[in-house]
Amino acid sequence: MAELIDGKKISTDIKDELKEEVSKLKAEGREVTLAVILVGDDPASAVYVKNKKKACEYIGIKSLSYELPAETTEDELLELIEKLNGDDTVNGILVQLPLPRHIDEKKVIRTISPKKDVDGFHPENVGALLIGEPGFVSCTPAGIIELLKRSNVEIEGKECVVIGRSNIVGKPMGVLLLRENGTVTIAHSRTKNLKEICKRADILVAAVGKPKMITAEYIKEGAVVIDVGIHRMDNGKLCGDVDLDDVESHVSKITPVPGGVGPMTIAMLMYNCIASVRG
Ligand code: NDP
Repeated sequence: MAELIDGKKISTDIKDELKEEVSKLKAEGREVTLAVILVGDDPASAVYVKNKKKACEYIGIKSLSYELPAETTEDELLELIEKLNGDDTVNGILVQLPLPRHIDEKKVIRTISPKKDVDGFHPENVGALLIGEPGFVSCTPAGIIELLKRSNVEIEGKECVVIGRSNIVGKPMGVLLLRENGTVTIAHSRTKNLKEICKRADILVAAVGKPKMITAEYIKEGAVVIDVGIHRMDNGKLCGDVDLDDVESHVSKITPVPGGVGPMTIAMLMYNCIASVRG
């Protein structure tokens, strides 16, 4: 029977460690402050922002909230970011994506100071990751590495297959697994023989954005499977990119949805906020 990797518990452990770290910083007279910007009224984004603020509160990070109307212009948003870039009391800036269509996301990401880019999306941080220099790492893939390490999954020398090559999940995931000395394949929508490639994986990361696409046919016996996908089904329940019921008897460890990767993303965001103070 597969072991479920408990992302909720691991993320709580991390948040408790970070809470102590924040207390130490406070004792040194240093406060950690995250500015969270939400533009528009997308309900899913509002939930993500609420959860991020809740995590800040739990850890002792001060959060500044900017909830802007959907009609906010690109210039107005960029001006706010510039103001926060120049504010020494703000350590991290997070702009919740997606943004309304009239705002250029790439421009917004580039405007955030790389030193305050706690989401790890700025090209300078992405480049640093690629060449093995210090910088902020995208929270979801960083959280997955933490999940693997804290679940005693060895990465070195293992066949790792990542399905998905997005800038925020798939690509940084591949680089991080490589940094841990895994042998990495990144698959995508043009990949041929996807099932055969996945079947080679000791560690399979599914970040494909298709509900329950990954069935037992994609799995090597005893593989560790990380399910990044989050989808709301017609019955209101959440599911991932992996068909958990179908693969469960074939894998050694797997992350559930919900309660796997999701909570780790926020824990790593908090980690990045504190790292931005420590420098
Ligand atoms: P994207 O849609 O940006 O990327 C999906 C990737 O999957 C693309 O690279 C695409 O390939 C590839 N793909 C799509 N269809 C197939 C297919 N049939 N076979 C092989 N590859 C395919 O998604 P994200 O990376 O942003 O997110 C992936 C999933 O993770 C989503 O469900 C999202 O909701 C979830 N997510 C969860 C987070 C969490 O905290 N748990 C955080 C972020 C995302 P191509 O490049 O060729 O188009």
